[in-house]
Amino acid sequence: MRPLVCSIHLDALRHNLAVARRAAPQSRIMAVVKANGYGHGLLNVARGLAAADGFAVLGLNEALMLRAAGYSQTLLLLEGVFIADELQQAASQHISVVVHNEQQLQMLEQASLPAPVSVFIKMNTGMNRLGFTPARYADAVARLQACPTVGGITLMTHFATADDDQGVEPAWTLFQQHTSQLTHARSLANSAALLRYPHTHADWVRPGIMLYGASPVTGTPAASLDLQAVMQLHSELIAVQTLQPGDSVGYGQRFTATRTTHIGIVACGYADGYPRHAPNGTPIAVSGTLTRTVGRVSMDMLFADITDIPQADIGSPVELWGAQVPVDAVAEASGTVGYELLCALAPRVHVKVVG
Ligand SMILES: *Cc1c(COP(=O)(O)O)cnc(C)c1O
Repeated sequence: MRPLVCSIHLDALRHNLAVARRAAPQSRIMAVVKANGYGHGLLNVARGLAAADGFAVLGLNEALMLRAAGYSQTLLLLEGVFIADELQQAASQHISVVVHNEQQLQMLEQASLPAPVSVFIKMNTGMNRLGFTPARYADAVARLQACPTVGGITLMTHFATADDDQGVEPAWTLFQQHTSQLTHARSLANSAALLRYPHTHADWVRPGIMLYGASPVTGTPAASLDLQAVMQLHSELIAVQTLQPGDSVGYGQRFTATRTTHIGIVACGYADGYPRHAPNGTPIAVSGTLTRTVGRVSMDMLFADITDIPQADIGSPVELWGAQVPVDAVAEASGTVGYELLCALAPRVHVKVVG
């Protein structure tokens, strides 16, 4: 069997959830498990995060899967429903919905439902993606309140810049100003705001990336936030080559040796979800020693410089990312973010749940 294995560490999920709890002790935690649990497997992460107060997903099918698996927590559809029939199903399974536009509001006003549905109503505070404008917000809330089909109402927004130097103040102020007359529960914070801006915690925090052990804060390593990698992508060397000065390796000969260089051929490529844009020098660990990739990533293989790891040979263990090589470091070298690499893990990779 091909030695590439992705292990999912449930104890790390539990640890990261505890980190979130400690940081936001007064809030309920809505664990964000969209995109197949950020690539880790929806039901895998639900198991590790079973102590969360709720789960946020994108599609009704994911919420139904969690209900069917026995999770009785609050479940939230982050983009709400797309058609009226979904609203019926959401109501009958006690699944909460985001309402972010006029169409969804009208759908609720016109529906007759088997049970009242809980609504998170979204304000657009600068992301300009989803949500009612601040000026229209109070009116939309009042219309929801007048709907017999609506149970609980939670006021919600999503920050565009909680993770960088700009911070949340303008968005936070806008939200406060336009909700000052309202007494409903509130939900604002993603992972970055949860860790950096306690004044935004309110009733529900919505951490995603931090629960998986990647950093939500640009330039801050996950380990320094006491987060542990949940996904570990491991493989082995399946061949070793020796390059003389002037020899090259891989498609396009993007790396040329300037000294006698030993190259380990790793069973992992872009068809497994490893970024094809990883440049020479991307961190990788072989036999427990940090080294660098060289040459262009191929579909099924990539290359590690093992010149300074004399014990490395065919069969030696390789960490693509995990506890020793932060996924954020691979992402940064490749011009992307940890989120994308985790979500892009290919279906063909064998997944093993640990703990
Ligand atoms: C994805 C998402 C989150 C979680 O964001 P992280 O940066 O992964 O913590 C929270 N809220 C909403 C609305 C989201 O779409």
